Amino acid sequence: MTAQIIDGLATAKRIKSGIAEHAADMKIRQGGIVPGLAVVLVGDDPASQVYVRNKNRSCEEVGFRSYSHTLPSSTTELDLLGLITELNANPQINGILIQLPLPDHINEHTIINAIDPIKDVDGFHPVNVGRHMTGLMSLTPCTPTGCMILLNEVTQDLGGKKALVVGRSNIVGKPMALMLLQANCTVTIAHSRTQDLAEECRQADILVAALGRPNFIKGEWIKEGALVIDVGINRITDPETGKNKLAGDVEFSAACERAAAITPVPGGVGPMTIACLMQNTLQATMMQNGWGW
Ligand code: NDP
Repeated sequence: MTAQIIDGLATAKRIKSGIAEHAADMKIRQGGIVPGLAVVLVGDDPASQVYVRNKNRSCEEVGFRSYSHTLPSSTTELDLLGLITELNANPQINGILIQLPLPDHINEHTIINAIDPIKDVDGFHPVNVGRHMTGLMSLTPCTPTGCMILLNEVTQDLGGKKALVVGRSNIVGKPMALMLLQANCTVTIAHSRTQDLAEECRQADILVAALGRPNFIKGEWIKEGALVIDVGINRITDPETGKNKLAGDVEFSAACERAAAITPVPGGVGPMTIACLMQNTLQATMMQNGWGW
């Protein structure tokens, strides 16, 4: 079997174009409302700087306002909390995103908890996590939301399928497992203490790899006909060219021989994460303007 390549770039483009139309319509019909996203970066991590630039660029593409706050790595927790209080109170700001990871002296949970849940476009606040878990309307984490959209591109019928999520982080693995459960899959979560990962993979009709280890999931572990979503973004040195390149968590070429469909890295889940951030910012704007939740 040669796998269908699930094109995250094309899907993300289509979603962003729909968001742009919706935003333009909202501006005309609803008294000039323009969604505003504040992106806060603390420190000078180069990868984070790239992510922040991409988020700002996407805001422009869909017609949102973006507000960048770049703070030095010496910023105190109190200073950051002060900024979040201002952003919570600012009616121009509909979404607040704090780029992770934060410097070690700042407690991530304290910061996430300080964001007004209705502006929490990352979907990390415990109120959103709890609402999501109990099936209430919520802002949901962008990466797993994007993964679900990609799965729905290739099948409408996830019900009863065996799904394996490798990784149990709060931002990817756990919400991903919940979304697959809500789509009626039978879900297993694997992690670093899992006894026989290869065997777990062999049983999975749907495999989501989010462990952050390049090419860790071997092609031969993939069940024939499985749907494979590779969340991993790992920077490696290409042994042939000696240049840096991105690799996923799944051994791509070998997996293509067995999977029915698979996402590439890059060009799979990555673009969907940003598209879903735009989607969440639009949703947050609508909720703040009378849609309720
Ligand atoms: P974390 O480091 O927070 O979590 C990694 C998870 O993988 C942990 O639960 C860990 O288990 C598990 N794990 C690590 N090693 C193994 C192993 N050998 N076998 C089984 N499980 C293992 O990572 P994130 O969830 O934040 O990110 C995962 C990957 O996804 C990274 O490559 C990241 O760059 C990428 N990513 C991509 C995004 C995108 O937009 N495409 C967005 C966010 C992340 P344990 O809990 O036991 O330690």
